[in-house]
Amino acid sequence: MAHLVEYLVLLRLCNNRTGIRAAEMYFVRNMSKSEIARRLGVTKDTVRGYVLRVLEKAGSHRAAAAGLKLVLPHLGRVRPVVKRSGSTYICELCGYTSAHPSTTPVHIMTSHRDALEQAVLRVFEVVSSGGARAG
Ligand SMILES: [Zn+2]
Repeated sequence: MAHLVEYLVLLRLCNNRTGIRAAEMYFVRNMSKSEIARRLGVTKDTVRGYVLRVLEKAGSHRAAAAGLKLVLPHLGRVRPVVKRSGSTYICELCGYTSAHPSTTPVHIMTSHRDALEQAVLRVFEVVSSGGARAG
């Protein structure tokens, strides 16, 4: 489950609400990819990308659903560090800017590994203190 938590925390740090909502709608609410795409105003391929990444991190559909149910209520503990200004994405930690949202997760992973790990730990702490199963 560590990989799934890290991926969700990364989406949150990057302020990617679409990715988080797509994962919740697909694995927790059992909505179809087309329905999710319509509701979020993105393409079905975008939804498929998020679904595949979550599956890859969680290992199975069941593990993804269980992990999301545990983690999503606590993602609010993580403060997003990427802000959007017009069509520019700005990292508040270092001032890095990019016109492409897809580059921000890579930036966080390579330049702010410590911030990512601390955020993952904060989420893990609260998930485990709730007596929740891990795995
Ligand atoms: Zn930065």
